[in-house]
Amino acid sequence: MAGSHISFKLLSCFSFMKSKNDPPIREFSNSYNPISVINFHGALYRVEINGYQLLFDLQGRIRWIVPLRSNLWPGPESAIRRTLCNNWLLYDSSEYYGIFELVGRYYIPVPLYGNISPFLPENQQNEQIREMSYLLDLVDQAADRYGFMGIDQLKRDATSLLKIIKGTVPVLPPDTIHVDYDLLPLLVTRGCLYNCSFCTVKTGTDIEYVDDHDLNVQIDGIRNYAGKDIANFNSVFLGQNDALAAGTVRILEAASKAFSSFRPEASLIRGSNLFMFGSVTSFLAEGTAKLKELDSLPFERIFINLGLESFHQKTLERIGKPVSSQDVEKAFYTGLELCSRTDSLHISFNFLLGQHLPGEHLELLFKRLSHIEGDNGNCSVYISPLQEESWRIGQLRRTVYTLKAASRLPLYLYLIVPL
Ligand code: SF4
Repeated sequence: MAGSHISFKLLSCFSFMKSKNDPPIREFSNSYNPISVINFHGALYRVEINGYQLLFDLQGRIRWIVPLRSNLWPGPESAIRRTLCNNWLLYDSSEYYGIFELVGRYYIPVPLYGNISPFLPENQQNEQIREMSYLLDLVDQAADRYGFMGIDQLKRDATSLLKIIKGTVPVLPPDTIHVDYDLLPLLVTRGCLYNCSFCTVKTGTDIEYVDDHDLNVQIDGIRNYAGKDIANFNSVFLGQNDALAAGTVRILEAASKAFSSFRPEASLIRGSNLFMFGSVTSFLAEGTAKLKELDSLPFERIFINLGLESFHQKTLERIGKPVSSQDVEKAFYTGLELCSRTDSLHISFNFLLGQHLPGEHLELLFKRLSHIEGDNGNCSVYISPLQEESWRIGQLRRTVYTLKAASRLPLYLYLIVPL
């Protein structure tokens, strides 16, 4: 099992209420630095059952299901992950070559339900969903034995989280793969400014701003929800699809309160991270001077992800994104400048890939990404394939590798993963 050890002294600081009948707590890695196998983090209860290792968080929610024998699904290099909102992901690291270059990790997380992923043919996905029912039975057996949450209770638990934040988290920023999607959500806005026609994760509702009372109730609720497992979180996601629309002042306030309450710096995992999405409009409305103030937050790294989609006006019109190509350019170059002038800000830009988009879209993207000057160390690019198109994985990979070779910024494929 991979993972560096956390000192028992540190673990005991969190005074877990471990009873005699609990399974052992296993200490895993205290760093999200990528290693060449699927890695687990923090402190988790470990149960072995029918050839599987089940890892439960410190509140008794299943987090990982890992086969211990090569003849068991999903295979020795893969694992099943449950997210806080009860989504199930297959972490596939069976294919080693070129995966890190493609996604920035040595595995590909694939949602097991919902949208068909280009990484998982439909018939294979259906088969895997059938295999899941056996694993869910194992979770129930272990839960019965140790008083952890069974499958029905986990569904209710996820619903209770959504009630606390009064919304959903349909998609996480691509940078959150750097913390393996381990984060606590806090909504400072709900809805989308644009509800772009191409987008499969839009809320379909107008933007709504969270007031003080709502914010405080969420923070207290999430702190209680995390319980003892707060020790396993060093990251916060400010949602929903456009947190930046709340404005810098509101973000500073919400992030500071979250930092004081969740204490990510005291987690079992090193560092502390804040993630959020921004739109072209909200990013430009704030401007460099205000956004620089985010650098003063106590989080070690602050990630802002901007959905720019295209530098090409006709492409923006085709995909139903109501922004101008001039504003996209402005947001891109403002983001580069901001990264070069701040320490903790990391800005990433999303661009679309579509088989039927105008050729000029890709041409302009190549041109802009290959002609960047200066030090933009904390900026990166994510390429997002249009979801409604069926992709041949080889073709997708080749295009991403070609863009990557031309880009002066680190560039990866955006994997759409919900919380
Ligand atoms: S692309 Fe962003 S702004 Fe547009 S609908 Fe989707 S989440 Fe909302």
